[in-house]
Amino acid sequence: MEVLSLNIALIAHDQKKDEMVNFTIAYKHVFEKYELYATGTTGKRIMNETGLHVHRMMSGPLGGDQQIGAMVATGKLDLILFFRDPLTAQPHEPDVSALLRLCDVYGIPLATNIATAELLLAAVEKGYFTWRDTADKYKTKGLDPEED
Ligand code: PGA
Repeated sequence: MEVLSLNIALIAHDQKKDEMVNFTIAYKHVFEKYELYATGTTGKRIMNETGLHVHRMMSGPLGGDQQIGAMVATGKLDLILFFRDPLTAQPHEPDVSALLRLCDVYGIPLATNIATAELLLAAVEKGYFTWRDTADKYKTKGLDPEED
């Protein structure tokens, strides 16, 4: 089976970090094939507790979600797993909303809870990558500033 390169971003709010670490341990055999990016604290915990290598951004409240958003806007991310805490107010809620919006602008698959993440990872594990063609179509709808 052809193994495509994928850039995957991982973000977890504080109350969801244990869940994210357990998830990355469970799917380490999948994650270790791809490039991983994460917000600061999430990335640090994943690296320390799983041994996976992670490219770390700034911490979410300090701009990390926006850095991930910039990667979406510039076509550098293929998939995002964002374990959100729906029960705690986040000081950086505007950044979170902006990231979700950009995923919709660019057709990037985004899981906001572990159940959806499980479905997406199962698809990746089986080599089901056709959603990338859809994302590519979004990229070609005239959003390239160089084309202006
Ligand atoms: P963190 O950021 O991984 O640095 O905690 C996550 C977030 O709250 O967006």
